[in-house]
Amino acid sequence: MKWYQLEVEDVEKKLHVTANRGLSVKQVEKRRKQYGENVLEAQKKMSKWLIFIKQFQDFMVLVLLAATLIAGLLGEYIDAIAIMVIVIVNGCIGFFQEQKAEKSLDKLKELSAPMAYVLRDKKWERIPSKHVVVGDIVRISSGDRIPADIRIIRSDSLETEESALTGESLPVSKHAQAIHRAKLDAQDQVNMGFMGTLVTRGTGIGIVVGTGMQTVMGQIASLMANTKKVMTPLERKLAELGKFLIVIALLLTALVVVLGVIQGQPAYTMFLAGVSLAVAAIPEGLPAIVTVALSLGVQRMIRKKAIVRKLSAVETLGCASVICSDKTGTMTENKMTVKEVLLHGKQLYVTGDGYDLQGDFFYNDEKIKNSSPHLSTMLLYGLLCNQASLAKKKGKYTIDGNPTDGALVIAARKIGLSEEDKQAYNIIKEFPFDSDRKRMSVIVEDKEKRRFLITKGAPEVLLPRSAYVLEEEGKQLLKAQKQVAIEQAINQMAEKALRTLAIAVKPLSNDEDALSSVLEKDLTFIGVYGMMDPPRKEVKKAVQECRNAGIKTVMITGDHAKTARAIALNLELMPEDGNVLEGYQMNNMSQQELEDTIEDVYVFARVTPEHKLRIVHAFQQKGHVVAMTGDGVNDAPAIKASNIGISMGQSGTDVTKEASSLILMDDNFATIKAAIEEGRTIYENIRKFIRYLLASNVGEILVMLFAMLLSLPLPLVPVQILWVNLVTDGLPAMALGMDKAEGDVMKKHPRSIDEGVFARGLGYKIISRGIVIGAVTLIGFIIAYQNDPTHLTYAQTIAFTTLVMAQLIHVFDCRSERSIFARNPFENMYLVLAVLSSLVLLLVVIYWTPLQPIFHTVSLNLRDWALILALSALPTVIFGFTKK
Ligand code: ATP
Repeated sequence: MKWYQLEVEDVEKKLHVTANRGLSVKQVEKRRKQYGENVLEAQKKMSKWLIFIKQFQDFMVLVLLAATLIAGLLGEYIDAIAIMVIVIVNGCIGFFQEQKAEKSLDKLKELSAPMAYVLRDKKWERIPSKHVVVGDIVRISSGDRIPADIRIIRSDSLETEESALTGESLPVSKHAQAIHRAKLDAQDQVNMGFMGTLVTRGTGIGIVVGTGMQTVMGQIASLMANTKKVMTPLERKLAELGKFLIVIALLLTALVVVLGVIQGQPAYTMFLAGVSLAVAAIPEGLPAIVTVALSLGVQRMIRKKAIVRKLSAVETLGCASVICSDKTGTMTENKMTVKEVLLHGKQLYVTGDGYDLQGDFFYNDEKIKNSSPHLSTMLLYGLLCNQASLAKKKGKYTIDGNPTDGALVIAARKIGLSEEDKQAYNIIKEFPFDSDRKRMSVIVEDKEKRRFLITKGAPEVLLPRSAYVLEEEGKQLLKAQKQVAIEQAINQMAEKALRTLAIAVKPLSNDEDALSSVLEKDLTFIGVYGMMDPPRKEVKKAVQECRNAGIKTVMITGDHAKTARAIALNLELMPEDGNVLEGYQMNNMSQQELEDTIEDVYVFARVTPEHKLRIVHAFQQKGHVVAMTGDGVNDAPAIKASNIGISMGQSGTDVTKEASSLILMDDNFATIKAAIEEGRTIYENIRKFIRYLLASNVGEILVMLFAMLLSLPLPLVPVQILWVNLVTDGLPAMALGMDKAEGDVMKKHPRSIDEGVFARGLGYKIISRGIVIGAVTLIGFIIAYQNDPTHLTYAQTIAFTTLVMAQLIHVFDCRSERSIFARNPFENMYLVLAVLSSLVLLLVVIYWTPLQPIFHTVSLNLRDWALILALSALPTVIFGFTKK
């Protein structure tokens, strides 16, 4: 027998579990041992050895190794060994960098891993999907990816999309009855849910019948996600630039070699010098350092509660010019409290804050308790048409489920109604809430077997569906005049920033079991709840900071226009005369019309997820880089279309998380601002080390080139060049990647997304600094060489030391776009340490006698140092004061 052919009870029996209790801890332990983790076997990872060997596969490094081999054969053992050691150390550093980047990416994957909602020992809990075992009872709802193969045992309008499995992209409606047919394909097993497929609508419960590789998905090996690393735009640009620079470096190097040979230098010496120069000058490591800088930034973001899913987002974040943010939960706390109730034309006030169960209902300062039967009915209905429940955690009451429903549970408690009162009714069917319908309904049956439909939702949605209204004297026809009065009262509530939710009822005959759209009409309108959802405290400041940074914040909400407006004003997100655009207005606009007005809109109210997509496109057409938040399943297309899709770590669904490039662990708007700030900082840091590395390379090439042009001997020997490349370039560049932001990162306008690597004067800075660094090195060499032409090693030591010192001073200049004096040099301790260690290594190489023959150096005296310091400070003296 197949699972789909079995009755639910038989499935329970077979798997030794009952649907209302779930597995016990012991059973779970045993099964986890028996079946293993609920994961698809990942692709094999590249072995560590391969990664290590990869470091030496670079063409120029291979040429260098070959050259070294030749040097060795020619008897130049010292040179050969020194170069070998440097190349191996370089390879090790590359290897460790790659490992580090890999590890942090793995950690990220873990953080954004999917979760499942399971019933164990009668308690619902959220666990990582990989811990789900066969026999677990799982609850799924729209937006979830089904964590394992399940036999559905309850379906409330449950629909799934199984294209990943069957290729069919239309949603499939699911039910819980056994299907007595043999040999059904997966797509026809409509009482089963399959691992990895999506829930597009409704909710359901199922028993896990297969996990990991034992699922249908597990059997289709070809579907396994290919985890190929995609380059970020900057990495791609740098890789392209790298190719260009390789050509230039090779040409210049070739020129150096040819000139050297013409002037009578031995061909072998020139060849080795040329190859070393090429290895040093080609910034082959640049993309790798960028990846490391990006992933270090990603880790800093995690500390600020933002998880980056795609490395490219780090770059794009810095370009964001519009943030479209949900209101509820992102800008507000999502802690709803019913503050007012509108019941037969009367405005009642409710006391008590948050999840405090104490509170009373007042009308005209007079306390009303159970004396009002209609109030009790309204609150009871609110409790029945509800998916949340009250839970006690660490002695404090909290809400399990969505906060809007939770507020109704707490309001009901204030007149003594609790879950027990709910037990007297049988919930026959649920039509869950979704933000397109803006309402939810239940069909309930009381003790006398009378059935009725309770609907709650946005008042504008419920009013047109109501034919009657509950008045003090009982059910009356809903006349136009009365309707206007209700609408006015609702507007008043909304203007006070209250979120409004109406509730209505309709008696049903027992056999009525149609679609919700057929049933939800001719309702009796009962009343309206007005709920307070306080803005998050930190949001106002974050909105302000974004504005200073040239980023516009826009609120997008399914809520009432007036409520949204009141909150937007409170957050100072828009001026008093700012525009609010409503969903229905957008429906009457062409895309062009929307584009024409969109720059003046601050709040989009009563919108559905489909509108979000239009909003993203319109802003993008206006040249904006758009960050868009979302939580529900229908938000996924807009999130995908935006430049930076942002999903919610707590309230978000799996689908939106997968579509997004950034997850907010705390659902908080202020975290978006923090991530943008971090994104900008990382980009600036990358610019800093590109500037440093390339300027150093230009200097290195030029000093050799000029020397050859002036018919001088080689100013630097191969080992020295490689040493500079490894020690002086490598360490400080990494430290620049960890630099703090300059004070004004959030005061500048966002940079353009098309900005090239050398934009904003970077190219000029690289060339000009490079030329001067090359020039001072050469001057040092010439002075020393003219003093004592017989002592070449001395002159080379002076050149080597001047080059290193000029770079180590210049690195501090790279920290600022303005001037070296704009920043405290001791602020970045990594940099200070990197520079100090480079300095110590330099001294070791110069003064430690065993190393002198290897590095072709001699000890220097104080006069030499005076010359070196004067020369190496020159680039900074010349450029340190200018912005250019
Ligand atoms: P945002 O997009 O900022 O998160 P929102 O949460 O206010 O906005 P929705 O959740 O789509 O937007 O809610 C829109 C409207 O639907 C609400 O104003 C409310 O009237 C109604 N509503 C919200 N939650 C429920 C619910 N659980 N049951 C019934 N109606 C609801």
